[in-house]
Amino acid sequence: MPSTDTPVSFESNHQEAAQALAAAQSRYITNNPLSKKQHERAVEALPGGNTRTLLHTSPFPLCMKHGKATSVWDEDGHKYTDFVGELSAGLYGHSHPLIRTTILSTFDQIGLSLGSTTVYEARYASLLCERFKLERVRMANTGTEANLHALAAARHFTGKRKVVVFTGGYHGACFSFGGGKPAANTADKEDFVVVQRYGDQQAAAEAERVIEMTAKEGEGGGLAAVLVEGMQGAGGCLPGSKEFLLRVQEAAKKAGAVFILDEVMTSRLAPNGLGQEMGLSPDLVTLGKYLGGGFSFGAFGGRKEIMDSVYDPRVKGSLAHSGTFNNNTMTMCAGYAGLKEVFTEEICVEFNKVGDDLRDRLNEMAKGTKLSFTGRGSLIGLHFREDGTLESQERADLRDLFWFEMLEEGFWITRRGFIAMMLNTPKDELDRFVDAVGKFLERHAAIMAA
Ligand code: PMP
Repeated sequence: MPSTDTPVSFESNHQEAAQALAAAQSRYITNNPLSKKQHERAVEALPGGNTRTLLHTSPFPLCMKHGKATSVWDEDGHKYTDFVGELSAGLYGHSHPLIRTTILSTFDQIGLSLGSTTVYEARYASLLCERFKLERVRMANTGTEANLHALAAARHFTGKRKVVVFTGGYHGACFSFGGGKPAANTADKEDFVVVQRYGDQQAAAEAERVIEMTAKEGEGGGLAAVLVEGMQGAGGCLPGSKEFLLRVQEAAKKAGAVFILDEVMTSRLAPNGLGQEMGLSPDLVTLGKYLGGGFSFGAFGGRKEIMDSVYDPRVKGSLAHSGTFNNNTMTMCAGYAGLKEVFTEEICVEFNKVGDDLRDRLNEMAKGTKLSFTGRGSLIGLHFREDGTLESQERADLRDLFWFEMLEEGFWITRRGFIAMMLNTPKDELDRFVDAVGKFLERHAAIMAA
């Protein structure tokens, strides 16, 4: 972007941004009458017209009508390159041919859920164990559930209750720790102790202190688990350093707690998951998202000593882990086909290189501006900050402006600033995106300068 533009003063920067945002929002309203109408209908049955809070956007959300390959079309007929990627679950795109034939053949030859154990779940369990270096695994329906059961396992195994987590951590609908504290709807809220920093050496030192202290608390607590993401996904695509993760793991083990690595989002970032890439050996790992082959999915697994003693129904006193759809045939077969045939270890490496390359190009383009890109491989976080560093004040107005204007350019991006790439997104579209970001920065050079 041109560096010749002089940044405007703080007040006029905010004023100019507000004007640009108001204009962009007004174009959005004009351009999307059918989405607006649909929203007005939806509020009659769904609170706020919504059944998934993240997808709510003001003044109304875009309503998508259909998707094909790596594109989506909205009700008003606009076409977008899909960078939402179903928040990382949409890895295979909307119509991968192998996923399609697997779904059809599963329906025709196996049928929907059989209400019994099947070879399909055991076959997929073996593949998951092999791929992610787990001794045992159990399936669930979502990443949230996977974490719920992994925590139950840790509590049962240790006989303790407390769980250490990190600020900005997200482990599911009822396990959210943004802003340094459990969200109001956190399950077993009183049991969580939140470390107030994530990712670096300072955070590791703080975690060591909190873990040790929590483990010492005898009454009504004691430490059952440490739960952490290798890269905070919902928290903004912020990777934890290897040293940080190793130190947290070490502290957890020293305290006798179960070390749970949440790989619901990150398992796609390296051939055997991010934990393996970082040299970690978690006691339990949680999985989800794309591993359902496009269907709802969660899984948790790891050391057999824990998994068998907690969940083997032949073991006296073991926990029941139920779920009508845990082994549903569609997910077991589509998930298996995707992981075995499509997202092989080789493809995983290649795909994430494309993401790294894209992020590098974007960061190069955005140098000296308020915009920066974080993440790893195929997951990219977008940040709008006053002086371009992650420590400075966030600029939600600029983030919204960017979102409205990227929609106009035909890119479907999560409003909070998250890109989860899909396999086989055409290179031309990635180039076109870099170009669109460049033009955005040029168009708003004065307000975007750091
Ligand atoms: N853990 C992490 C790290 C996640 O990113 C998510 C979902 N964004 C979850 C758990 C929860 O998964 P689900 O939405 O399938 O319940």
